Amino acid sequence: MTPEYAISAALKSARTSEVRDRLHRLVVRRYAEPGYESERGVYLSNWNDLTRWENGTLVVLDDTMERLENILTKMDYVCDWEDEYAICDDCGSAFRSEPDNYFWQMYGSQDNGDNVCGTCLKAI
Ligand SMILES: [Zn+2]
Repeated sequence: MTPEYAISAALKSARTSEVRDRLHRLVVRRYAEPGYESERGVYLSNWNDLTRWENGTLVVLDDTMERLENILTKMDYVCDWEDEYAICDDCGSAFRSEPDNYFWQMYGSQDNGDNVCGTCLKAI
């Protein structure tokens, strides 16, 4: 099975348009961030189930993303959170835009909507 096949199957089984929108945005990328490795690549998205509270009970409306995450992870891809990364405008790699520890420093630049990773900044 290829990741494209898994994503295509996920699109057919997704029960909500919000999850289908997430699936349409999936693109395999590389990390630009030093210390982050993924030989096959990383997919960035919101991997949470789509849920809603009904009468005090949390109801899962669509668990497609979680199921796809499990499949992609078994295929040795990394699934990470899209709201924690920026995409380099030059090379398309992902670099962290949100801190993950106290000593974190952004490997790149975000300025007026322009995103450039640290590797591309060095090449300027
Ligand atoms: Zn770059």
